[in-house]
Amino acid sequence: MGKLVNKQSVLLSIVVPMYNEEKACRAFFDVLLPVLHGVTPDFEVVCVDDGSKDSTLAWLLHKRDSEPRIKIVALQRNFGKDVALMAGINYSRGEAVVPIDADLQDPPSLIPDMVAKWQEGFDTVICVRTDRPGDSRLKRWLAAGFYRVMGQVSAVDVPPNAGDFRLLDRKLVQALRQLPERSRFMKGLFALVGSNPAYLNYTRPARVAGDTKWAYWRLWNFALDGIFSFTTLPLRVWTYFGGLVAAAGVIYGLWLFSGFVLYETDQPGSAWLLVAVMFFSGLNMIGIGVLGEYIGRIFDEVKNRPMYLVDREYGFDPGALNEGRASDQ
Ligand code: UDP
Ligand code: MG
Repeated sequence: MGKLVNKQSVLLSIVVPMYNEEKACRAFFDVLLPVLHGVTPDFEVVCVDDGSKDSTLAWLLHKRDSEPRIKIVALQRNFGKDVALMAGINYSRGEAVVPIDADLQDPPSLIPDMVAKWQEGFDTVICVRTDRPGDSRLKRWLAAGFYRVMGQVSAVDVPPNAGDFRLLDRKLVQALRQLPERSRFMKGLFALVGSNPAYLNYTRPARVAGDTKWAYWRLWNFALDGIFSFTTLPLRVWTYFGGLVAAAGVIYGLWLFSGFVLYETDQPGSAWLLVAVMFFSGLNMIGIGVLGEYIGRIFDEVKNRPMYLVDREYGFDPGALNEGRASDQ
């Protein structure tokens, strides 16, 4: 192995957020574990049970009896994938850390290639989906649109068609842990800490079993989180837009006034008034909505609540992190 590994750590951590994955668990580990054995015996699989309501946790505990390298963090309730992922990353001890979905949509067969790239010296290896036949056409179309908008408005380069499936060197993990924010749009945060990535291409298959946890409404909120956490453009653009509209109003007023003074033409005011009232009140409401997005986030941040709450841990050393307050690390 090319990299120096200190005694406390393991070479490779796999981090798996899991929410109601009882149907996919078995197939997932049947594929994952042989791949890991082929890479190194020095691995751990950190499973985060994100408040599952099915038998996911029981199944994991059972599996841990025969494979103690499986570690489990059980969160108190469902916190959402990004927070669950961060919990797992906080607990992981690997020199390299690979977040992966539990439904085999992120093929474990790519892990040896990712590790090889890392050992060549890349700090991060990003798996890019060349095709996603497993996702509906609408979802693919919306995803493409989202990344186009993100690319335009944000200073951070979020690579399109890359999910959370990637390899992170410990260096990047430490950097991630120093970001204290609670609205955790992981893809953006990954992009923020990782420069000089290597890329691997893959075709994203359909979920092996169970259902997707992402209804469209949740995806929409996810996209908003991404945009509003990573750019202040929506906040700033209203200044310019408002300036333009106000200038147009002044010009229009001058035009009406000069018509009245020069040619004594009298305009019926009521129709124009109605249009103006609707237009400006609409504008106000949009502006207030945008401010609300940011103020909501400020509110979240100032509360400084722990990002997640752990119910129980299995297989970690005493003194391992047990809460998600980033500033305590
Ligand atoms: N997940 C989670 N918490 C959630 C939703 C999802 O930990 O609230 C996990 C889920 O168990 C899976 C991964 O995140 O391992 C991706 O979820 P899913 O496959 O439903 O998303 P999709 O692939 O449809 O985007
Ligand atoms: Mg999936």
